[in-house]
Amino acid sequence: MLLDDMLTYNEQFVKNKAYEPYQTDSLPNKRTVIFTCMESRLIELLPKALNIQNGDVKMVKNAGAILRDPFDSVMKSILVAIHALKAEQVMVIGHHDCGMSHMDQDDFEQSALDKGVPSESIHTLKHAGIDLESEFKGFNAVEDSVQESVSVIRNHPLLPSSIHVHGLVIDPDTGQADLVTRG
Ligand SMILES: [Zn+2]
Repeated sequence: MLLDDMLTYNEQFVKNKAYEPYQTDSLPNKRTVIFTCMESRLIELLPKALNIQNGDVKMVKNAGAILRDPFDSVMKSILVAIHALKAEQVMVIGHHDCGMSHMDQDDFEQSALDKGVPSESIHTLKHAGIDLESEFKGFNAVEDSVQESVSVIRNHPLLPSSIHVHGLVIDPDTGQADLVTRG
């Protein structure tokens, strides 16, 4: 079982002091907060491709690097990084071939039903005014989506004017990063 494998590995990791190369403090050395996608291909590739070492940045992730609501948890995390953890710039990094670029609402609901979520639960949410379509909406062009996330951050009333907010798109195969907007 994966959990047990992880715990066994972890015991050895700590015992062998394999953590030593990673020790640092909790302030981001590069004074930067990165907001990116939870994409599994980027877990190691993104930091390597951008020369980010352990301790260098605060990293916030969600599905698609999508930020549309100025008071959702992503924006709160970015503000905490700035006001409590000394971050001085923000980078929004979307990626090509993102799962959120072809999010199909019908498939999503069907999957919930197939996995045993009662259809009444979905109806109840809809009756309560929760629009699943817009809650789980993806995007067509990743560049536009990055630009939108950047705009929400740049226009936030609690964002100091000194903070630069950049937007990039990264290739999940090669790690090539292209600038969408420079703050
Ligand atoms: Zn993605």
